[in-house]
Amino acid sequence: MRYQRSSQLFAEAEKVIPGGVNSPVRAFKAVGGTPIFVERAKGAYLYDADGNRLIDYINSWGPMILGHAFEPVVQAVIEKAKLGTSFGMPTELETQIAALAVQMVPNVDKIRFVNSGTEACMSAVRLARGYTKRDKIIKFAGCYHGHSDSFLIQAGSGAVTFGSPNSPGVTAGTAKDTLLATYNDLTNVETLIKANPNEIAAIILEPVAGNMGCIPPQKDFLEGLRTLCTAHGILLIFDEVMTGFRLAKGGVQELFGIQADLVCFGKVIGGGLPVGAFAARNEIMDYLAPLGPVYQAGTLSGNPLAMAAGLAMLQTLNNDAAIFDRLAQKTAYLRAGIEKVLTANQVVFTTNSIGSMISVHFDANPVVDFQSAAKGDNATFKKFFHGLLQEGVYIAPSAYETWFITDALTYEDLDFTIAAVDKVSKTF
Ligand SMILES: *Cc1c(COP(=O)(O)O)cnc(C)c1O
Repeated sequence: MRYQRSSQLFAEAEKVIPGGVNSPVRAFKAVGGTPIFVERAKGAYLYDADGNRLIDYINSWGPMILGHAFEPVVQAVIEKAKLGTSFGMPTELETQIAALAVQMVPNVDKIRFVNSGTEACMSAVRLARGYTKRDKIIKFAGCYHGHSDSFLIQAGSGAVTFGSPNSPGVTAGTAKDTLLATYNDLTNVETLIKANPNEIAAIILEPVAGNMGCIPPQKDFLEGLRTLCTAHGILLIFDEVMTGFRLAKGGVQELFGIQADLVCFGKVIGGGLPVGAFAARNEIMDYLAPLGPVYQAGTLSGNPLAMAAGLAMLQTLNNDAAIFDRLAQKTAYLRAGIEKVLTANQVVFTTNSIGSMISVHFDANPVVDFQSAAKGDNATFKKFFHGLLQEGVYIAPSAYETWFITDALTYEDLDFTIAAVDKVSKTF
């Protein structure tokens, strides 16, 4: 495959956009080469500026769980756009998507919509701090909760890919209120709580981690956190920006039967438009302005195009009882196929997966936290990434990212991908 036009477009972009990209995860710095410029996408495929067709395992980093340009979502956006694109006044549509989301997600009464996952997590933490009247939070190394200051402490995703898990520009004053814990390590969390009595407002985590590869919680980890939070008056925040409406209708709360106090959403909930949201029971949500004292706002929050896309997406997922099983079966098929060929080619690897999330790590040890994820062999990953790209398979340009399986992928696409992995891994 040739990427001539993409290279030209990137050179032009670099002159006027830092690094040529509006989000660092789109850069190819970690794998070498230049980013691919996309022209359009449909179903499971991307079509780039050079006319190449790629099977897409990024899917806009999560939102496109039904595949690209899903017809009901596209139609909903077109119809709404004709009626005006933003009002800064309430619309009935906002109530419709809120009612459906609250019905699908366990243990929440009210939801507020924002414009990104970052805003959702930032607002959820402010609300938790206001509600508990405490300042500190616990986050886990390798978990990513968007780019707001409090979270750029040992952050995952692009923050770790580009070597700035602790970003300059975050003040020491802010950083001191974020306590860092190890994923899947309850004892570590207990120690932090004991060392900071009555000071911790919230524990925030990805209840299935997806920003250091895919790392499911080990047995009793989430239960243990729930118990600790309840015992110490700490709010448990599930950042389900990646997992919400993806691993089950009601996200990880439903999947593992654990109740969080606050839940953050993004990605799937917007159907591919810029949407985030956070939700909780009445007593917590009513602490928000205009009812309560914690301030949070947004000129474009609840935007009609975004709400129309999100509603069409949630309705489709809510009405399709088999979708999450279908996705999990495709993931299991892909995982088994990849494991078979990598083993046959004597590659050292570990795979993790759950539902429609999967990651391949080039290390023999189990990947259960940030430290074990960081052990993966990046030189092999680079060959893997560029090899797959040559075959027409697009995965994230970083070893720290999850692949997303969509409903649009066929078993032919999966077989094609497995064959590509076979071919590429023979060259390692
Ligand atoms: C993507 C992501 C975010 C940030 O969402 P943005 O819409 O990029 O701001 C937060 N938390 C998790 C778990 C994510 O995967």
